[in-house]
Amino acid sequence: SVYPHDGDDTETLLNKADIAMYYAKDHGKNQFSFYFDDLKTDAKRTFTLDSELRKAISNKNEFEIYYQPKVNYQKQQIIGMEALVRWHNEILGNVSPGEFIPYAEETGLIIPLSEIILEKVCLDAHELIGYGYKMPIAINISSIHFHQPNFITSIQQILERNNLPANHFELELTERTIMNNEKETTRKLILLKHMGFKLSLDDFGTGYSSLSYLVEFPLDCLKIDQSFIKQICSVSDKQAIVHAIIQMAHRLQMSVIAEGVEQRDQVKLLGEMDCDMIQGYYYSKPVPLDEIMEFLEFWELEIEGK
Ligand code: C2E
Ligand code: CA
Ligand code: CA
Repeated sequence: SVYPHDGDDTETLLNKADIAMYYAKDHGKNQFSFYFDDLKTDAKRTFTLDSELRKAISNKNEFEIYYQPKVNYQKQQIIGMEALVRWHNEILGNVSPGEFIPYAEETGLIIPLSEIILEKVCLDAHELIGYGYKMPIAINISSIHFHQPNFITSIQQILERNNLPANHFELELTERTIMNNEKETTRKLILLKHMGFKLSLDDFGTGYSSLSYLVEFPLDCLKIDQSFIKQICSVSDKQAIVHAIIQMAHRLQMSVIAEGVEQRDQVKLLGEMDCDMIQGYYYSKPVPLDEIMEFLEFWELEIEGK
């Protein structure tokens, strides 16, 4: 393993040193020292990340949930928001989920971490409902978590404990998570749907290209990946793909959300292509709970004119 766990960090360092040595034989001394320094820094960071993440999971208080609104373009309404975890650590500073979520998945720490995230989202949901904001909250579901045999029971228990119905939530799953041809996956998705969850397919277009599962699975929404949106105004092929995805989704009774929308031109073009929902920095970055409440209040007053 590249990642040190309790007690085996020396071994990992030695293995990396060996690799560096072999590498140096072929590439000369200078490159050796560069490569070796990088490895040392990497291994040290991973070691700290591991121990700090374990601590943070047992204390629970270093994690915070940020929220990003999802906007219905035609109605100019906020129809939901996505919960995105943030980790503030004393030693490492703010670690991005792009770094610690994959690490948590490799080490299995994602299971307790996902439960902490869900608990925190439930607390925030009560706060939001208390202020009259009843739109569903989307939660990112890790593949490792989803494939646990007790996945459904565990989220059901957390919702029951917090007295919240499943239809207050949307689950964001990636293609990687549900594309495995297992009957068990279809069974789980149907069960979740029956429980009342909305189901979305995240990062659509980046994973496998088989489309047959779109018919098989009870999905409500496709989220078109940021990489398509980024060049939608400049590359006509990307524009064609996005347009085709929107039309296909609508034929299959699914709604479409474009993510990573940053510019006015992109919003306009997506509107013309009949994209249902927009998410991205154009409207708001993911922000802490108190800021999303301010944003929702502002939106009601200024945009909807309530
Ligand atoms: P994702 O689910 O695809 O989330 C979208 C990412 O794009 C978020 O990054 C968000 O902050 C960012 N984003 C949103 N709008 C824009 C935009 O207009 N421009 C650009 N450049 N970026 C935008 P973030 O929060 O760093 O999360 C990265 C990934 O980490 C997420 O990708 C998701 O896969 C994972 N993740 C984040 N929070 C959670 C969580 O609570 N649970 C799990 N299992 N995974 C999470
Ligand atoms: Ca997501
Ligand atoms: Ca995404």
